[in-house]
Amino acid sequence: MQNKLFIDGQWVSPAEGTMLPVIDPATEEVFHHIAAAGALEAEAAVKAARKAFDNGPWPRLSSKERAIYLRAMAQCIRDRMPELARLETRDNGKPLPESEWDIADAAGCFDFYADLAEELDGEVEEVKLADARFVSKAVREPLGVAVAIVPWNYPLLMASWKVAPALAAGCTMILKPAETTSLTALELGAIAEAVGLPKGVLNILSGKGSVVGQALIEHPEVDKVAFTGSGPVGSRIMAAGAKDIKRISLELGGKSPFVVFADSDIEKAVEWIMFGIFWNQGQVCSATSRVLVEAPLYPKLLERLVEEAKKIKMGNGLDAGTLLGPLVNKGQYEDVLRHIDRAVEQGATVSCGGKYEDFDKGFWVAPTILTNMALDSDAWVEEIFGPVVCIRPFETEEEAIRLSNDSRFGLAAAVMSADDARAERVAAAFRAGIVWINCSQPTFTEAPWGGYKQSGIGRELGRWGLDNYLETKQITRLVSDEPWGWYLK
Ligand code: NAD
Repeated sequence: MQNKLFIDGQWVSPAEGTMLPVIDPATEEVFHHIAAAGALEAEAAVKAARKAFDNGPWPRLSSKERAIYLRAMAQCIRDRMPELARLETRDNGKPLPESEWDIADAAGCFDFYADLAEELDGEVEEVKLADARFVSKAVREPLGVAVAIVPWNYPLLMASWKVAPALAAGCTMILKPAETTSLTALELGAIAEAVGLPKGVLNILSGKGSVVGQALIEHPEVDKVAFTGSGPVGSRIMAAGAKDIKRISLELGGKSPFVVFADSDIEKAVEWIMFGIFWNQGQVCSATSRVLVEAPLYPKLLERLVEEAKKIKMGNGLDAGTLLGPLVNKGQYEDVLRHIDRAVEQGATVSCGGKYEDFDKGFWVAPTILTNMALDSDAWVEEIFGPVVCIRPFETEEEAIRLSNDSRFGLAAAVMSADDARAERVAAAFRAGIVWINCSQPTFTEAPWGGYKQSGIGRELGRWGLDNYLETKQITRLVSDEPWGWYLK
């Protein structure tokens, strides 16, 4: 386990010597300490990334050469899978099979962007001009020094969604993991060393968002900030970036709807509603936390859902059979419980779940189903970011669409129906960046990911994820021998 910062290819201790405890959320045991970078380290990392971009080999390599490094990083992640998955589970609390899935996806993400990098070489788009005296082409180039700031819900995976396309594009990067879960992201430094990535190309600074994160987003020599996290921090990043016209991409929160029509198979509906909100303890930005069920199906579906939610096996993520682990930390746990208390104060019914007190230690919230909440209640409107779902009946398709879109968020939405035409109609009507039909949450590296409205700006993953780290340059040539004739007649 790393306890230093990775800057310019070296492991260094923070100048001020500040360390942060790493707490296992299942046992509350402090099992490690990580370094907390300050302004000095932010400066050093930006300098290193700047030098590696402006004078180093990385952006000048062919994309095919960069792809070799990316593939080697993918292989290293895969080789270290069991160890990285255990680290992720101890750090974040999620069940081990979920961590294994995340680590495999992280490796897949590096491979995917290696493939895309290979296609980048020689990619020149001829631009047709109306004026035959000129020819023009568009080329794409790496945009410079990028900062990646990531949250704690998918620590290595969220880092990979940014590091892999940035490196594929030829950018250099400073990665700032969340202070609660930095262990696997720091291992990316060891992986960069192992594959011989040129120094300064990837720098990793663990530490507090308000300190090192803030220093990075305000730094004038940073060209781009890619962020996943909460709306308020996203807003700060836009404000900080406005000064120097930084490129900004944001992946923020959501309160995503799941519309279930009465012709749906009830067992499939129960399975996907549960996967949509209890996977990763509900700490998923795209979680379908508002479920709308067509009235005739509502009573039976609610009954089955409560029955199944009560059966979900809670426990330490390292224990076999665990399907729901603890929340990531004490703050998040208290926050989720506050949301549930507030829902009750505002008139909602807790059909099952709430605080879970069977374990002496750890941050446990049972799978929670809220009903009878008002449409303007906090539970229906605000992101809870825990295993808490709000469910209510609807009468008509028009009402389901209206209620789904009545949110300041627009990250994801899901619809289930046996009628394909209806499902497609509703999918088209959703104002959201990610729409699932007959399921909720499956996520693919090849497909665009990001939100409408206050859920973010820009798209990650797929070829859209690479665009985040590229500039487009036009090169236009005069090919006519005729005099221009403006000044010289
Ligand atoms: P957060 O915004 O508090 O923290 C995210 C990251 O930002 C952390 O690394 C943190 O250290 C850093 N940060 C905090 N203050 C900063 C500052 N002033 N300057 C620079 N960096 C700063 O969010 P969180 O609590 O870690 O994550 C939960 C939130 O993230 C939820 O709202 C969730 O919806 C959202 N999220 C969105 C997605 C998505 O893909 N859209 C994915 C995961 C999480």
